Amino acid sequence: MADRPRAVPARDHGQRYGSAELKKIVVMSSAQVGKSEIINNTIGYYIDVDPGPLLLVQPTIEIAEDYSKRRIAPMIRDTEVLAQKVADSKTRDTNNTILMKVFPGGFLAIGGANSPAGLASRPIRVLLCDEVDRYPASAGSEGDPIALAEKRTITFWNRKKIFVSTPTVKGASRIEQEYEMGTQEKWCIQCPNCREFHPIVLRDIRFDHEIHEAGNRKIYQVHDVWWRCPSCFHEGDEYTMKRQPAKWIADNPVAIENGVRSFWLNAFVSPWFSWREIVQQFLESKDDPEQFKVFTNTVLGETWEDRGEQMEEDVLLKRREEYPADLPDGVLLLTAGVDTQDDRLEYEIVGWGHGHESWGIEYGVIVGRPDDPQTLQQLDDVLNRVYRFADGKGLKVACTCIDSGGHYTTEIYKYAKRNEHRRVLAVKGQGGPGIPLIHRLTRKNKENALVVILGVDDGKSRIYSALRVQEPGPKYCHFPDDESRGYDRYYFQGLLSEKLVARKKNGVTRYVWEKISTSARNEALDARNYALAAKEILNPNYDALEQRLKGAEEASKPTAPKSKAAAIKRLVKKSNVW
Ligand SMILES: [Zn+2]
Repeated sequence: MADRPRAVPARDHGQRYGSAELKKIVVMSSAQVGKSEIINNTIGYYIDVDPGPLLLVQPTIEIAEDYSKRRIAPMIRDTEVLAQKVADSKTRDTNNTILMKVFPGGFLAIGGANSPAGLASRPIRVLLCDEVDRYPASAGSEGDPIALAEKRTITFWNRKKIFVSTPTVKGASRIEQEYEMGTQEKWCIQCPNCREFHPIVLRDIRFDHEIHEAGNRKIYQVHDVWWRCPSCFHEGDEYTMKRQPAKWIADNPVAIENGVRSFWLNAFVSPWFSWREIVQQFLESKDDPEQFKVFTNTVLGETWEDRGEQMEEDVLLKRREEYPADLPDGVLLLTAGVDTQDDRLEYEIVGWGHGHESWGIEYGVIVGRPDDPQTLQQLDDVLNRVYRFADGKGLKVACTCIDSGGHYTTEIYKYAKRNEHRRVLAVKGQGGPGIPLIHRLTRKNKENALVVILGVDDGKSRIYSALRVQEPGPKYCHFPDDESRGYDRYYFQGLLSEKLVARKKNGVTRYVWEKISTSARNEALDARNYALAAKEILNPNYDALEQRLKGAEEASKPTAPKSKAAAIKRLVKKSNVW
């Protein structure tokens, strides 16, 4: 890693596990963060300190030769301890050629993934695989080059495998598969304000820029770039953030039991890349899918998802419309969905009308821990508000589903229990195909709160199919173009953050929802899913709601509509919820 004055080294795993237990190290990253230096330093270490048979694999034999001449040879030449141990290949010493460096106690073989000869001969203790996403599917006719090379390491109890690459296409990316099998550690920087640690990702980058038209070309001029903390919204500049304490945080720490540590980092933490350059590249590539793919892989260090059928956020951004008041005509019912995070709540208020046409009314973030009474008080303010039509009539939120997964289940159960009279329900998402959105209701918990088990995949399918409806009318989704309501680019990125993909497990192909990119945030999608669930639970009779609203003095109290499932009715009656 780069020199970082006050960086906090992540020693946690190292202390518990000696280096011999660590079998595999995976680095998935952008270009120019020092990946080659990891490989070179590892080679240097083994030649000098712990010699043995080493194999370095590059995507092709030509790249292997080039790498040897440009990167390995100068390192050996310029490092005294290495120069003493490895003879120069120009001396015609047959032990030392471009693809073979012999030293006391071992050797370094350098091979190409396209050439089985170099991969399948002698046993190897240390295997280094560079740019694995550029390997061919088969080394000649011998099959997977990585499997071939890995086979050679099995006789060594103290074997080490190091896989390094910039990722490519999601689903087909070898480095991503290896990354997912490991500890999934991200380089996280501490926010100077709230002290939370976050990876620096494009979503949290804000910038000022100008666009000049020059013929058909757009010239972008980036003035200022800064980072906004997703926990507290504090803003920090590049100079400050690159000097903050930082550490690796693992998403999948249990993988250490299998001896696999995997790491992810991007150009935002590279000392050789300025944030302004990154934003410049983002702006210049964003409108061209091919260029944007390269940017995503090599600068963001993320796999590229060919969205295929998935919509682009630009389409939805352009579709936004002006609402004449809080509530446009057509809205007959309001529901809310609340996504619970450790440091904030994200909520959406959604309006519903005939044919389940929907209107995004407000998307917001309440910063604060869910166990802090102030956080929930602010949520009360949102849920108790009367949202008004242009004619002054108003509606309140008729039903709210609040996420109780995560670390604050008890607090959310208590909150839901306290607010049952205004139909605040705790929900717990359950992934997997074939589970209906409203799956089960239960009161089996210490708080005796009514908890709805949601088939979240069903909800996601319904949301995405509704978003594809092009004409206002049944199922169409409206969004306001007033950004103070929260429907900006980041909102739509969140709403479109997942995709249904085919995954093979134990020989069976299943469709599962996955995030489009490593750094995508799906709170907006979850909040919409919960608001949809709240509407489903009410099973509104829109005609009755419309009658009520027309004649209504009591407009701020929408009708309690009939519940669809008998089971819900019974439970509701028994518990006297409504
Ligand atoms: Zn912060």
